[in-house]
Amino acid sequence: MIPKTMKACQLVAFNKLEIREVPVPTPGPDEVLCRIRAVAICGTDPEIIFGHHAKKGWPPRFPFTLGHEWAGEVVALGPNVTEFKVGDRVAGEAHKGCGACENCLKGRYTLCLNYGKEEKGHRHYGFTVPGANCEYNAYSTKALRKIPDNLSFEHASLLDTAGVALHGIEMIGVTPGGTVAVWGPGPIGLCAMQMMKGMGAKTVIMVGRKHRLKVAGEIGADVLIDFEKEDPVKRILEITGGKGVDEIQECSGASVALKECLAAVRKGGKINLIGFYEDSKVLLPPITSIVMNEITLTGSRANPNVSDRVLNMFAAGILKGDKVVSHTFPLEKYEEALDTFVHRKDGAIKVVVKP
Ligand SMILES: [Zn+2]
Ligand SMILES: [Zn+2]
Repeated sequence: MIPKTMKACQLVAFNKLEIREVPVPTPGPDEVLCRIRAVAICGTDPEIIFGHHAKKGWPPRFPFTLGHEWAGEVVALGPNVTEFKVGDRVAGEAHKGCGACENCLKGRYTLCLNYGKEEKGHRHYGFTVPGANCEYNAYSTKALRKIPDNLSFEHASLLDTAGVALHGIEMIGVTPGGTVAVWGPGPIGLCAMQMMKGMGAKTVIMVGRKHRLKVAGEIGADVLIDFEKEDPVKRILEITGGKGVDEIQECSGASVALKECLAAVRKGGKINLIGFYEDSKVLLPPITSIVMNEITLTGSRANPNVSDRVLNMFAAGILKGDKVVSHTFPLEKYEEALDTFVHRKDGAIKVVVKP
């Protein structure tokens, strides 16, 4: 039986969350109602809560239910749904494009030209329309994937994070047998590291510090460089005989990272940026070196068209959620979960809430 009301953790004003009793949504055409079993806190969630994204229209109103990295079960079908049945275990993507604009038609639905226009069918769950920090939510079937039986809801809530990593990797590829580097052993960087290893890189170097760097070593990074203790560029040039690495995924968002990456990549090498930067503070590298050394420099946003392959990597054991998901809390303790995540308490990496 699906109840009429449910608990939701809602943002009622900037910096103010409340557990409220709200109506359970009804799935519309091509939507299903899901029972949320696990929702991971993303780096953007606290930024929205603190009011840093107000200009982008996140949240669009108060009260608003955040949460976009989730897994759960299908409990009811809306009209026209044939792709899913009640009881299916699923995980969600945050973006659902309008399906009709030039970018959506090219498969680039995270760059939908009708972003935020609900009447055009666009959804950005947990950003422009309600998300998963609650017991039930209705989702377009386009934003859902069935998850393997051997994957827990907690780990499946990494679908979005791991997908961001895979989309970034696909922008520039991985040289089989090559040497690659990841800057930033946060949740995205730890997923990227495991995937690049699984995709055939011989040596994966992780640049970071403290507990997260140690975890990177425990789950497969070949070389750990603590930037507080040594110069990452110098060490990478030593390891590669002065050549530099083939590809770099920059997941740290640090102001110095781009400059370091350009000095650590080989001639003809490739760098993809995933981090969010404080633009005014970014140290610009010598731009001409990009020209002279034919460096490919790309940015990647979100996780279009990668979810099925991310789930295959989970199923195959290439990608593991162990140690990336470090903490779980019940929904009622959302604020404690948020505090643990934001302040990286007790070695927190990815913090998952279970409604
Ligand atoms: Zn996210
Ligand atoms: Zn579109």
